[in-house]
Amino acid sequence: MVERVRDFLRSFLLIELFQGLAVTGRHLFARKITLQYPEEKTPASPRFRGLHALRRYPNGEERCIGCKLCEAVCPALAITIETAERGDGTRRTTRYDIDLTKCIFCGFCEESCPVDSIVETHILEYHGERRGELYYTKEMLLAVGDRYEAEIARARAADAAYR
Ligand code: SF4
Ligand code: SF4
Repeated sequence: MVERVRDFLRSFLLIELFQGLAVTGRHLFARKITLQYPEEKTPASPRFRGLHALRRYPNGEERCIGCKLCEAVCPALAITIETAERGDGTRRTTRYDIDLTKCIFCGFCEESCPVDSIVETHILEYHGERRGELYYTKEMLLAVGDRYEAEIARARAADAAYR
């Protein structure tokens, strides 16, 4: 009985409504902690692993020597590599694909690469709208590397100094 009277009074006096308004009032003039993305961004960890890139040497030569270590170490089986010997006797990839829908961004491919070819950049703003758009081919990965090489080189140097 007492409980029913108490519930009635709480409803009748709009107690819960005022409690809710009090919470709103407390936060109305408080410092805002939300950001206006994408104009404003939260700081990213230096260890953040984003979109993959294949790098070249300064003379334009591809770094990748087709050793397939990254393909072997990838726990998600996301990397597919085919190789062939070039006219000068060196081995290079004829196919280097990463299926980003399988990738778990563990960084093992980057860690295993003996020539610093496959790397994970800080880039997180990419997407696919159709089936297959997140299947990155060698040309796409090289294009990412070409575009962001300066940043990648800076990040790799900072990483090496940290270690
Ligand atoms: S980050 Fe990990 S899961 Fe993704 S491609 Fe590299 S090794 Fe595979
Ligand atoms: S990216 Fe590195 S680990 Fe992978 S095949 Fe090329 S050289 Fe080998």
